[in-house]
Amino acid sequence: MNIYDDFYRGMDPNEWEFFAVDFLKTAGYTILDLPTIGPDGGKDLKVEYEGKKYIVSCKHFIRSGKTVNLSNEENILDRVVQHEVDGFIGFYSTQISNGLKERFDKLNSNPKYNYTFEYLDKYLISQYIPCMNFQTLQKFGICNGLTYVLNVPKNDYKPLNCLFCGKKDILNPLNINSSIVTVYNYNNEYHYAYGCKSCIPISIFPWADIAQVLHLECLMDWNDEVDFIKNEYKISEDFYKYESIFNNRILQRIYPSNLGTWI
Ligand SMILES: [Zn+2]
Repeated sequence: MNIYDDFYRGMDPNEWEFFAVDFLKTAGYTILDLPTIGPDGGKDLKVEYEGKKYIVSCKHFIRSGKTVNLSNEENILDRVVQHEVDGFIGFYSTQISNGLKERFDKLNSNPKYNYTFEYLDKYLISQYIPCMNFQTLQKFGICNGLTYVLNVPKNDYKPLNCLFCGKKDILNPLNINSSIVTVYNYNNEYHYAYGCKSCIPISIFPWADIAQVLHLECLMDWNDEVDFIKNEYKISEDFYKYESIFNNRILQRIYPSNLGTWI
């Protein structure tokens, strides 16, 4: 069992091919030829990495759970030659059979050919998913139906009320998209504040969207910015108090890092 099995299972074979495109782009590959959708499998995806060209064969057997075997990948050498590329990449949502693995090994070690035969199975793909962009993963159904996470039991949850109106909980899923956190200059000192966009004066700076700082790396960037202000400028007496409340309570909704990154 793999934590992403349900995520993979939610995709149909066509979506799996387009997921492969986004996955390989994230890994630094240039896409030369997009897969085409068709009953006979269409054409293979073609990519380039560090000057070498590859054809990519996507097999999406997660629903049946079957391994990819020799009969699923026929004539791989011919396909590489025919497409005039340097190698072959299998992109599989299950694992590969021993027979297919041996075939790859033999082709790779045969001195007659200068081609590379590689594969990414579901375990290898899963290792790299945390590096992918969260929005991309959402497009393919990660967090399906789950817009925000709650990292504490419901009864332990503490709201983070807007410091201006005092009423709206900015961590309530209904308010997250219309709320921000900020440090702003007032009377020659910096104040830490969070709240509804509509309650906060427009001219404040810097600020960050709550929807964004729910991603750990964005929260860290935000805290770096705040640190800079703290080191460079005079801050208000209650600065640390609100900063600490904010940083503690936002953790209740921070996304687990295995759901991809913001950027
Ligand atoms: Zn408010």
